Amino acid sequence: MPLEISAVNSAPLCLEYAHMQYDYKYCPICKNELTTSEEGGLERKRCSDRECEFVLWNNPTPVLAAVAHRNDEVVLVQSIGWPVHWFSLITGFMEAGESPEEGIAREVKEEIGLDCKVGELLGVYEFIQMNQIIIAYDVILSEGEIIIDREELVDFKTIRSGELRPWPSGTGQAVKKWLSQRGIENKELEFKKLKKS
Ligand SMILES: [Zn+2]
Repeated sequence: MPLEISAVNSAPLCLEYAHMQYDYKYCPICKNELTTSEEGGLERKRCSDRECEFVLWNNPTPVLAAVAHRNDEVVLVQSIGWPVHWFSLITGFMEAGESPEEGIAREVKEEIGLDCKVGELLGVYEFIQMNQIIIAYDVILSEGEIIIDREELVDFKTIRSGELRPWPSGTGQAVKKWLSQRGIENKELEFKKLKKS
């Protein structure tokens, strides 16, 4: 029975759906079929042509995240396709040739239209379900109007630190760390597994 994670209340929750792992069937180099064999101590897919060196390593993808805030309010965003009560941190993938700090500043500008100052690294967290590694920063937003990128987001909200509750995932752990640096210990939200009807 397929399960989905659903919110127990209307507070912010998170799932980064954007980048599910592809299930490759063919070698991207020589187009032969992939086969399974032991590579580097684990069962992996590799090219069936032994002359070809392609192995699908399936390493986790780095994802940048921002606890983006100003005046004691954190900005959370809702991606297209999420349930209406789900909000999360601003996140995004790194581009080739940029530093993580440059990348998260770019994502903040793209997603909510504001310049920012990238502060300290909050932490690096695993997100095993998505095969991602979350690299989260404290980000101080400039003044100005928030204008969301309608191609990626449907909505945003601002929430005061006193009301911001972390959630049980990589980005949620970054929120927890950010709050703890301010001496705030808000109760963690729970994910509830529901049977799909
Ligand atoms: Zn190949």
